[in-house]
Amino acid sequence: MHEEGKGSCCCGPSGTPEGGRDGARLGWHEYFMSVAHLISRRATCTRGHIGAVIVRDNNILSTGYNGAPSGLPHCNEVNCKIYRSTHPDGTVEENCVNTIHAEMNAIAQAAKHGVSIKDADIYITASPCIHCLKVLINVGIRTIYYDKPYKISHIAELLRLSGIRMEQVRVAPERL
Ligand SMILES: [Zn+2]
Ligand SMILES: [Zn+2]
Repeated sequence: MHEEGKGSCCCGPSGTPEGGRDGARLGWHEYFMSVAHLISRRATCTRGHIGAVIVRDNNILSTGYNGAPSGLPHCNEVNCKIYRSTHPDGTVEENCVNTIHAEMNAIAQAAKHGVSIKDADIYITASPCIHCLKVLINVGIRTIYYDKPYKISHIAELLRLSGIRMEQVRVAPERL
């Protein structure tokens, strides 16, 4: 007799799709954002784990997570080196000097391998900082999909002036 329930194949005789843990197949946005979350688990800066995936025509072109440049010690080995900067609105921001941000690393990986990312989209587990946003504009990213908002007021004017699109894509924790 066939064993019931647990451990059975996801493409069982019922034909019911079981892509997510709650039983529904992942849509494209949820799929790529879930990949970004998985990639964020490689991040090494103890101040936050971020993942990024650059996508065109539903194909992954490049990925990145925040961490030290290749060959240099990571923050989880040598501790973060924090610097403070003051935004024009007066708010003070803290960043880690050791770390390359996830979206910058995804762009670097594409450049290293000669992959064009013009007119691609990017999925990031958090909205970009203003420095990354400026580079995303210039490499020709069309739409930024983010999960968690990070100081969006700091980038609102640049978003408006540049015309780059930004949309939130939430992934429920139980779907990861
Ligand atoms: Zn760090
Ligand atoms: Zn950044």
